[in-house]
Amino acid sequence: MIQHVPAASEIVAREEAPAASGRRWQEEMTDLVTDPAELVKLLGLDPEQLPAALRAADGFALRVPRPYLRRMRPGDPRDPLLLQVLPGAPELEPAAGFTSDPLAEAQANPVPGVVHKYRGRLLLIAAGQCAINCRYCFRREFPYSDNHLTRSQWQGALDYIRAQDELREVILSGGDPLVLNDRQLARLVEELAAVPHLDKLRLHTRLPVVAPSRVTDELVTWLTGSRLRPVLVLHCNHAREIDDEVRAALRKLRAAGVTLLNQAVLLRGVNDSVAALSALGEALFASGVLPYYLHQLDRVRGAAHFEVDDGTARDLVRGLRESLPGYLVPRLVREIPGERSKTPI
Ligand code: SF4
Repeated sequence: MIQHVPAASEIVAREEAPAASGRRWQEEMTDLVTDPAELVKLLGLDPEQLPAALRAADGFALRVPRPYLRRMRPGDPRDPLLLQVLPGAPELEPAAGFTSDPLAEAQANPVPGVVHKYRGRLLLIAAGQCAINCRYCFRREFPYSDNHLTRSQWQGALDYIRAQDELREVILSGGDPLVLNDRQLARLVEELAAVPHLDKLRLHTRLPVVAPSRVTDELVTWLTGSRLRPVLVLHCNHAREIDDEVRAALRKLRAAGVTLLNQAVLLRGVNDSVAALSALGEALFASGVLPYYLHQLDRVRGAAHFEVDDGTARDLVRGLRESLPGYLVPRLVREIPGERSKTPI
């Protein structure tokens, strides 16, 4: 059961009027495609897909920003971008071993808004929403409403961070932290920069890929303007997700001194070939981003049809080593609940 979380449009509506440079992405966030019927019509797909799409979207809503939609191939039901967002019948089929909380994050949630699994770093659930809903998302059923922070809970999360002397890095996650506006994020970063034991700030985000207008001048200013060294870990799974506008946004971040890394999820039907993964590595590098992790799917309920077995995954990475320089070959990993780091495969 998905808990209610505020839509990005609600978050935006609660804030003051956006600065001019922030207007475009905020408008894009209020104009998402959320109706499977509209998606099917816009892409000229077979309407027979619709009843199953509506049923699956009932459990985990459809959300697609239009800039991302424009990169899909009309009339192609196997389009690798479409497959990541279109709800469908396979999600409704039960699969052994696929659960609502595959990473047992509920057991690593010491105070609302904080997921603390690893030594030296923790996740701050800065936002309970994403710009896009990826059908394989391991947090499809995360209780965001329990982690949607009130002002006093924000202070509780910051107090927790201040009290953990061994922490060096805070990772803003979500949802997607960049659905918050620049004013909110600048304030948060100011608070984090005042914590003496922190020296790095990391963002896990898909927004520069799905709505690149989000990379505003204001974003670059708060991200690079504090003493914390900025790292942005992008989530991009296919070379066709990177168009000219995405490339320009990423280069802007890189030119400002942000370390850019990518983590992709290995997804059957989307990127499970040496050709697709090589093209992704090259496209990332051309945008100033290094491939970092290739994740095996987290076994979340509704995503079994995306799973690639470990043997095939290893063969793919072997193939990548033969076709790419070493620095473009991502590390193949899996996250295992209770482990102190990601586990190489
Ligand atoms: S962007 Fe990340 S957190 Fe958001 S739905 Fe996609 S996979 Fe999940």
